[in-house]
Amino acid sequence: MTESPLSGSWFTEVWSPEGSAFSLEVTEKLHEEQSEFQKIEIYQTRHWGKLMVLDGCYMVTDRDNFLYHEMMTHPALFTHPDPKRVLVIGGGDCGTLREVLKHPNVEQAWQVEIDERVTRVAEQYFPDLCESNQDPRAQLLFEDGIAWIKNCTPGELDVIIVDSTDPVGPAAGLFNREFFSHCLRALGEGGLLVQQSESPLFHTDSIIREMYGELKAAGFTSLHTLPFPQPIYPSGWWSCTMASKGLTVTDYRKEAAQQKAFVTHYYNADMHQAALAVPECMKPLYA
Ligand code: SAM
Repeated sequence: MTESPLSGSWFTEVWSPEGSAFSLEVTEKLHEEQSEFQKIEIYQTRHWGKLMVLDGCYMVTDRDNFLYHEMMTHPALFTHPDPKRVLVIGGGDCGTLREVLKHPNVEQAWQVEIDERVTRVAEQYFPDLCESNQDPRAQLLFEDGIAWIKNCTPGELDVIIVDSTDPVGPAAGLFNREFFSHCLRALGEGGLLVQQSESPLFHTDSIIREMYGELKAAGFTSLHTLPFPQPIYPSGWWSCTMASKGLTVTDYRKEAAQQKAFVTHYYNADMHQAALAVPECMKPLYA
């Protein structure tokens, strides 16, 4: 927290490699602990509700998390023809799991989060994100997703959502060929993987391009990156990448998306369609 030339106290996340930073005005630090895996902090902000920070990096605020959680979930679940068995790797704040469970065809959803403390702290400070944790279809497991996916029965999953931290520390192994090969094996025919893929502005020619290479080498056939706004993440412009085992990831169940019977704040069929458009600066990825 640093004193600002404006009044009050501010939390700033600095992105040194890009020479930029983002600040939120905070009124109180509500929680701080060092878990086995990371430093977890919760702040009360003046205008963005509560804020979760892991190892100094913004994770979620009450105000803007819907953008990320909805785009990590609904495009993939409306692309798979009938998603019944869904795995979330990471996602400890439980917002992605909540969105998954809005889909009535989902019969089972597993959340495999390496750090139980993230979920316990989220339950305390972000009860809205955790409101579906008691859903009988949900199973919360606290293990390393890299190890967990290796032991899956082949073909048992319809959709895998990798809602991880940046590709460093325990999340580094969630971005490579070996991990993607295990995901491919765990997915049934027509299965889908969707993974948070960082900033299109900062990472198209690094992390996203490398992910494409690793996903293709692992055997995924159709790939597409969907950009969306996310004010608190580096550059404010974020993305998820979908990859499939068989089907074309740009074909989705448009009518079902148009008639969705649950509330969202960003996602709808038109936003899905719009997110499939390829910005000029990302076209080389598809060449
Ligand atoms: N929305 C966030 C973002 O893009 O910055 C991600 C939020 S979510 C809290 C990320 C979670 O991934 C963290 O709680 C972290 O503990 C978890 N994670 C990191 N590596 C993991 C692994 N190998 N297996 C399971 N969970 C992991």
